[in-house]
Amino acid sequence: MTVNENIKKVLKELGKTKLVCVTKTVDPPRINEAIQAGATIIGENRIQEFEDKCDHILPCEKHFIGHLQTNKVRQAVDHFDVIQSVDSAKIAEEIDKRAGDIGKIQDVFLQVNIGEEPQKFGFGVDEIEQAITEISLLGNVRITGLMCIPPYVSPEEARPYFRRMKILFDRIKQDSIQNDNIMQNGNIDLLELSMGMSGDYRIAIEEGATMVRIGSAIFGDREY
Ligand SMILES: *Cc1c(COP(=O)(O)O)cnc(C)c1O
Repeated sequence: MTVNENIKKVLKELGKTKLVCVTKTVDPPRINEAIQAGATIIGENRIQEFEDKCDHILPCEKHFIGHLQTNKVRQAVDHFDVIQSVDSAKIAEEIDKRAGDIGKIQDVFLQVNIGEEPQKFGFGVDEIEQAITEISLLGNVRITGLMCIPPYVSPEEARPYFRRMKILFDRIKQDSIQNDNIMQNGNIDLLELSMGMSGDYRIAIEEGATMVRIGSAIFGDREY
């Protein structure tokens, strides 16, 4: 199957769930093939790699999905429409500063470590609400979603994690609508629940994902 055929097949399957076409390690001609086949959002996880490629990529929405280091925040804010992987208050503050410098309101998702895995990035389930309250007060950042990467298990075993994320998402959405302070500041508008990758996106959609991030099912296995 070609990239073009894979994109068409995936888009058909997704229906109204949004596709982030994960293009890490993929070269611009193949990225452009995906965009021409109907992909509208690409996801990258390394700033340097993206900067090397970005001048050769057709117009599209760009999401950063990797762990962001403080010294790369400037480039991330300059290049990406959405930073999906905000995993600490400190990085959110850095993003806020840079966005303020260039007069941008940066859309971000907060990453939740839904499996509570010590080696993984993201806010713990018991930290996320406090983090949202703090980060939503930053003037140049707008929280528009939550993202998670569940433990590396079979798709069926991942289902309870997706389910937990959906419950958390609905609860925070409800809280953000009811909390006058947050509403008045207007910088949280929880729209997207980003979960599910090539192996488990069907399960994630069944459990309420509004956005999935798919790489290898479109481009084939990655060669590093
Ligand atoms: C690589 C990556 C994906 C896509 O993984 P596939 O299994 O190739 O679909 C999704 N999300 C994140 C955060 C990634 O780093």
